[in-house]
Amino acid sequence: QADLAMFHVKETGRNNFFQYSDALEESVRRKKVLRQQLLTAIDNQELEVHYQPILSTEALGIRKVEALLRWSSPTYGAISPSEFIPLAESNGSIVNIGRWVFQQVCRDLSSFNDQGLSLRAAVNISAMQLMQPHLLNELLEAVKDNGLSPYSLELEITESVLMSGDSFFTSLQNLREHGFRISLDDFGTGFSSLSYLRRFPVDVIKIDRSFISEITHSQSDDTLVKAIIELSHNLGLLVVSEGIELKIQFDMLRNLGSDELQGYYISKPLKASGIISFLSQDTPFNDN
Ligand code: C2E
Ligand code: MG
Ligand code: MG
Ligand code: MG
Repeated sequence: QADLAMFHVKETGRNNFFQYSDALEESVRRKKVLRQQLLTAIDNQELEVHYQPILSTEALGIRKVEALLRWSSPTYGAISPSEFIPLAESNGSIVNIGRWVFQQVCRDLSSFNDQGLSLRAAVNISAMQLMQPHLLNELLEAVKDNGLSPYSLELEITESVLMSGDSFFTSLQNLREHGFRISLDDFGTGFSSLSYLRRFPVDVIKIDRSFISEITHSQSDDTLVKAIIELSHNLGLLVVSEGIELKIQFDMLRNLGSDELQGYYISKPLKASGIISFLSQDTPFNDN
């Protein structure tokens, strides 16, 4: 989109044209380099999983973390997941990378356990991973190798996955029958409607940050979020609110009955070692 946007800028003369086409060329080159480097990112140990604490509203304690992948490219340094995940999806490297992430999360959870912290983890899973016939076996093996139970893992998928057909539906159901929890990420940004939630094989919904950031400004968003939470509860779903940055959002979502809260107001994503120290500190969000 960024590439096209550059051409939508009014082209006033030769110099601008060359500027835009240089920028386009650079962006195409960058993508090509990044895609190539993603193929060797695991072997070169360029990946690291960070963890964002998720607060359980009732207990006012951290029971869960979301695993968020970090990558440092040899050429460009730290790259945002919103840039590199789509590139990894475009050349299939997300399959190996996603497998590595899941294994790393299991190792880290097991080490948290060894240090007396009982935590669950939510892991983002791409559609392409769900299409792999061996996914279930791989996940079960990683869980077992690290002495965990599938119940400790929540698989985050986006609405587009749910909407894209029966094969995904079946594979999610299968994962769920084996004890993995399924979480619907970025709820409200895609095409699914509340009424679909009833038949989807889902345990958790995560209300997207775009709703949360609006909630303090507009009464109607308020009402919408309230309705989403109520309906989800009626369907037996657990509700997580993402992107809580302000105390006022924290208070409002807590009052509206959101079961879990996640966002910079509670904590940014941290390295695994940072999670240990965050949870051993005396913070308001900590009863461990
Ligand atoms: P997501 O799964 O919706 O993750 C939440 C994103 O919001 C994370 O961005 C997190 O750092 C950010 N965030 C959390 N709290 C706040 C807040 O209070 N304010 C703001 N402005 N942002 C907040 P991040 O780490 O850059 O990841 C972006 C996206 O990349 C993720 O969105 C997810 O879709 C994808 N992603 C990250 N790691 C993985 C992975 O291991 N596998 C796959 N397939 N996708 C991943
Ligand atoms: Mg997520
Ligand atoms: Mg999200
Ligand atoms: Mg997302």
